[in-house]
Amino acid sequence: MVHKCLIIGSGPAGYTAAIYAARAGLSPILYTGKDPGGQLMITNEVENYPGFPDGVIGPEMMNLFIKQAERFGTDIRYELIDKVDFSGPIHKVWSDQGTELEAHTVIIATGASAKWLGIPSETKLMNKGVSACAVCDGFFFRGKEVAVVGAGDTACEEAHYLSKLCKKVYLIVRRDEMRASKIMQERVLNTPNIEVIWNAVTDEILGEEEVTGARLKNTVDGSTRQIDVNAFFIAIGHSPNTAIFKDWLDMDEIGYLIASPGSAKTNREGVFVSGDAQDKVYRQAITAAGTGCMAALDAERYLSEKGIV
Ligand code: NDP
Repeated sequence: MVHKCLIIGSGPAGYTAAIYAARAGLSPILYTGKDPGGQLMITNEVENYPGFPDGVIGPEMMNLFIKQAERFGTDIRYELIDKVDFSGPIHKVWSDQGTELEAHTVIIATGASAKWLGIPSETKLMNKGVSACAVCDGFFFRGKEVAVVGAGDTACEEAHYLSKLCKKVYLIVRRDEMRASKIMQERVLNTPNIEVIWNAVTDEILGEEEVTGARLKNTVDGSTRQIDVNAFFIAIGHSPNTAIFKDWLDMDEIGYLIASPGSAKTNREGVFVSGDAQDKVYRQAITAAGTGCMAALDAERYLSEKGIV
């Protein structure tokens, strides 16, 4: 059987595509991937998504997306798509459980993943105090001293979140300025228990069975400094989850997929892209949802033009 619409990914882009595709009668199948719900599952308060005047917690928001997609009959499958073949008019995908499917349209909504520092002590102490998710793990370090690395909105958001739980938060910034928006920077700089350490890179995260501290190196004078912390949160950006598409789809040098302007169309007919997999500029839940909608409408039009629906 050739399915009408297959969606790969389960963040705001994937579920919005599913809601639109399901309501249009495309009977979409949505593969969640290995991190169902995507980045919002590791996000605390979302205050800027319209319709939630009091804010909403990321995982709660994803549950609402799931309910809405299921209400219209989306077939949600908790498997990872690990291979695709976009060579013909009928697209083929394979899941890590060995399932092979064929579809007339594929909507990619695979998002992006957190980046890591890449030092051995980070790997050694992963989940023993090293984390990329303050919301998931901050709770375990209530009343303790912790560190956050990064200088973007994510790092500021995490530092601020942790400042409400922890005794002290060090924010480790590798330059003498932050990339984060002004409002987020001000929030951090005005929080008494956040100390920003400027011009510092992480030499090593210290500890054997659990994080006990970190050794930082000053990038200006080369001096080192040790901080005693129980947790080390990495918040240094993301990379797009697009490796399985590299033989088929146009992407930029980082791996972000390229949609033709004003649409969700890729260079392959019937394959559409949405969300953070194609967006390195805005990267918001609302823009991901918006492009998920675009992808579903483009898929529906494509199917209609081909006389499939
Ligand atoms: P960004 O790419 O914006 O920032 C990454 C930060 O990490 C940069 O400051 C970078 O430093 C630093 N960094 C990168 N590699 C290293 C390293 N090896 N060691 C130390 N520091 C490093 O990522 P974010 O995840 O913060 O944000 C991504 C996007 O999401 C942005 O557009 C942001 O605005 C948005 N966002 C919006 C939010 C909101 O509106 N509420 C919340 C969170 C994110 P350098 O500056 O020196 O390159």
